[in-house]
Amino acid sequence: MDDGLRSDARELARLLRGARHPVVLTGAGVSTESGIPDFRTPGSGLWTHVNPMEILSVTALATDPRRFYDFKIPLWRKFIESQPNAAHLALAEMEGMGAISCVITQNIDSLHTRAGSQNVLEVHGHMRTGRCLGCGVTEPFETLVHRVEEENECPPQCTCGGTLRPNVVLFGDGMAGDFEAAVDEAIQCDLMLVVGSSLEVSPANSLPEYARHVAILNVGPTACDREAIWQSHAKAGELLPLVVEALKAGIGAEAPNPA
Ligand code: NAD
Repeated sequence: MDDGLRSDARELARLLRGARHPVVLTGAGVSTESGIPDFRTPGSGLWTHVNPMEILSVTALATDPRRFYDFKIPLWRKFIESQPNAAHLALAEMEGMGAISCVITQNIDSLHTRAGSQNVLEVHGHMRTGRCLGCGVTEPFETLVHRVEEENECPPQCTCGGTLRPNVVLFGDGMAGDFEAAVDEAIQCDLMLVVGSSLEVSPANSLPEYARHVAILNVGPTACDREAIWQSHAKAGELLPLVVEALKAGIGAEAPNPA
């Protein structure tokens, strides 16, 4: 085992234990080790193949729903088939130990909840359900997929005649209801640990600005690197289980608050 990784894990455990209200902000990078591509990793990121702003926008859904669903449905299948990885599991365990207060996620894959995290704020919504733009009814995402694939209905229609759309935040949408709670968490927190996000997507990337201190665990660079009091370029699924080990070993139990 790499000594650098262990020492990074101990330092992070100390910071978390020293914080009064530590929260975690995750992005697509926390799920790459589950086999789900992120946006910006060179070569494998979704941006290598498409411009998400052209496909995953409110305008794209309205003007070219077939292209939108041809992109979204395989992604949804990948989410269902994927399993939480060591990073998701470690974050759930850290919450159970009282080492973090909540996970704010930009992800729509539900893997934090499936890993056992209880307090999850999904600021970009999720792919579990869709809603009718007419009557507001909520339907499982499977229903939307069935209407598109089996009934050749694109966009999918509700029984009231309205259009069904996924409960995800698209480019051009307002933020999900959880965003307000996420801002409150960011204001309250004295340490925000960012995991697997380039911090390029607005307004989620404004959340670290509210936090008193920011720590960053991200393979690539982020827009907030210069403000970070701690940083590691390790893979989340390799480092976070070591942080759990360090916390269990009592590392940081006596640490002073980073403030
Ligand atoms: P991003 O692609 O802009 O950045 C991801 C970052 O994670 C990169 O900087 C990369 O270096 C880093 N990374 C990749 N693998 C890592 C690992 N194993 N450990 C640590 N770091 C790793 O993603 P973003 O900042 O979340 O913004 C993209 C937007 O796309 C978000 O809004 C997100 O909702 C959405 N998205 C979500 C999913 C998902 O739900 N899984 C997948 C793709 C995109």
